[in-house]
Amino acid sequence: MGDHVWLDTQSNSEFNVPIGAVVKDSDSGRILLEDDEGKEHWITARNMHMVHLMHPSSVQGVEDMITLGDLHEAGMVHNLLIRHQEQKIYTYTGSILVAVNPYQLLPLYTVDQIRLYCNKRIGELPPHVFAIADNCYFNMKRNKRDQCCVISGESGAGKTESTKLILQFLAAVSGQHSWIEQQILEANPILEAFGNAKTIRNDNSSRFGKYIDIHFNQNGVIEGARIEQFLLEKSRVCRQAPEERNYHIFYCMLMGMNTEQKKMLNLGTASEYTYLTMGNCMSCDGRNDAKDYAHIRSAMKILMFSDSENWDISKLLAAILHLGNVEFEGKLSTVCASSFTGCELQNSLTNLSIIVRGESVSRPLNIVQAADGRDAFVKGIYGRIFLWIVNKINSAIFNPTSQKPKNRYQSIGLLDIFGFENFSNNSFEQLCINIANEHLQQFFVHHVFKLEQEEYLAEHIAWNNIDFTDNRQALEVIALKPMNIISLIDEESKFPKGTEATMLVKINSLHGKSKVYIPPKSDHDTKFGINHFAGVVFYESKDFLEKNRDTLSANVMQVVHSSKNKFLREIFQGTDTTKRLSTLGGQFKQSLEKLMKILEQCQPYFIRCIKPNDYKKPLLFDRELCIKQLRYSGMMETIQIRKAGYPIRYSFEEFFERYRVLLPWSVREQLKNDARQSCIRISEAVLGKDESWQAGKTKIFLKDHHDTVLELQRQNI
Ligand code: ATP
Ligand code: MG
Repeated sequence: MGDHVWLDTQSNSEFNVPIGAVVKDSDSGRILLEDDEGKEHWITARNMHMVHLMHPSSVQGVEDMITLGDLHEAGMVHNLLIRHQEQKIYTYTGSILVAVNPYQLLPLYTVDQIRLYCNKRIGELPPHVFAIADNCYFNMKRNKRDQCCVISGESGAGKTESTKLILQFLAAVSGQHSWIEQQILEANPILEAFGNAKTIRNDNSSRFGKYIDIHFNQNGVIEGARIEQFLLEKSRVCRQAPEERNYHIFYCMLMGMNTEQKKMLNLGTASEYTYLTMGNCMSCDGRNDAKDYAHIRSAMKILMFSDSENWDISKLLAAILHLGNVEFEGKLSTVCASSFTGCELQNSLTNLSIIVRGESVSRPLNIVQAADGRDAFVKGIYGRIFLWIVNKINSAIFNPTSQKPKNRYQSIGLLDIFGFENFSNNSFEQLCINIANEHLQQFFVHHVFKLEQEEYLAEHIAWNNIDFTDNRQALEVIALKPMNIISLIDEESKFPKGTEATMLVKINSLHGKSKVYIPPKSDHDTKFGINHFAGVVFYESKDFLEKNRDTLSANVMQVVHSSKNKFLREIFQGTDTTKRLSTLGGQFKQSLEKLMKILEQCQPYFIRCIKPNDYKKPLLFDRELCIKQLRYSGMMETIQIRKAGYPIRYSFEEFFERYRVLLPWSVREQLKNDARQSCIRISEAVLGKDESWQAGKTKIFLKDHHDTVLELQRQNI
């Protein structure tokens, strides 16, 4: 009675693993088990093979999963489950943090907690996102190296909240309460207003990716920051799926603006606008749009948006709403939209001008064509407002003096990018997002598995190789090798006669036999599949080329350039269709590659956010959903390598320099010309003479907890 066991329910589901259970009762040859989800099972003697004894470490749960006795998926998910039930949402795997979304406010983020985690080593206190932030900060100063935190997970898993918590922590330890710190913190509400929306997965879903690079001076004080954005989902401005909303800013504006301003922009309530009602959802539980508007406005002031710039933005947002109501008959909306954009829209949206033999000829568009043109115009405006806002924020928070070589700053970068997506209908945007995730997974695999094992080999330390799933080949076929899938899509987009059908023919002929690509079932089928590291995704190729070209018709561009609205002209500056060199996919690919280069220069930390259920509910833990996320992110293999491996390494010189104080003076003198021997002596004295650390040819190799022990000893001297 009371024994803890694993129960293998032998279900056929791909994501089923044995569940933890406790023995409740027994009678003639049978035992009664209650599993982790409270379900009871009578197990007869014949079925006893389904039951295995649990390791004590799994019964209590562990803070660091490399210390689990039961090193399998069941052990991992059970550990997260029992911790989640006790509201312990953070768990380590070495220095990699797993964060399970609690879906409730926990008392974990107070000023006292920040103080508590400040200047502590990982493992000294219970796992926490602040501990990761503190270690980034400490390592930046100690190792004089830029750091980055790669925060990954599905939509709703908690990436953006984790990013904000890290920022909050860094601002607190930088400790100046300075204007620049406040500006960096206040950039978030603006970005979220224009780039986040309610979706069915998340009430505050980021519809763009971002990399925030925070710059510190030599004393560890924040001097500035820079934000890089990736691929805003523009289609949301014109269309929302059921139960989803447009970007927060529209609803906030309509709820928060004063009557006079609304009158000037001829605005009513959200329910009056086609662009705000397609998801049939105008308000969002737990959000207060009016209050948020006040916050957004004050944040914009802090980031130096002038009143007239604010008004320019509002005018264009209003124009977008009016444009959405234009039905190509009704006059009023067109008049409003024309007036706020300063454009002559009546003709340009309903007629198409083409150049025929040197002469401009105009022909009317049908209603569908006109509506498409209007939507493209609106997406163009919104996308450019967003870019303008990010630039504006950067001009306030970026400090050019920190760029000068002699003041060379150090930085901590936080990457909060859209997670892997697989919907019932996936389009070009999903392909881009999933490619970004392939890149990040490769970065993770490269860093955690490949580089590490290569180094063990090079340094001749005793090591048994660990197998891992490498997505390199898939990434090469999709985005890296010559004639990769994305480049074929790109090429077809640049080719005037290209269509999705000709594009598929080319991809089929080049990649038809690849394991990564799944061709359409027939010549009429427009869907193709890609075998991503996180599973197969089928993409609807319709509209791929159009979306990738991302161009506005020449007459809309002409209208913009002759607009009386200076702000509109400004945001469109330099984006003339004829001069545009690159497609959307091409630009995205470029910015991703640039990001990867930056990340490769940094010492990385990884935070894996896990969404425990699909209902945004506290204390509800869906095991299969969690297994799926853990499996795709390679957590099992990560535990194995973190358990066997030596994630911390120093050259003998670095190590000796920092820790020689731990050796008695006489020994130091005696060994002063032998860095390697000195390091071995320090390690033997502080860490013990076991096999848990190793000395290679030029470096010493340690476990995560050794770093903690050494630092603590050093502090105590
Ligand atoms: P997306 O990819 O859609 O942007 P995300 O991973 O950024 O998703 P978040 O917006 O960070 O997800 O989190 C979703 C919601 O979950 C938050 O709005 C909040 O309600 C809740 N949440 C996340 N993390 C925490 C936390 N640490 N404490 C309390 N609630 C949280
Ligand atoms: Mg987010």
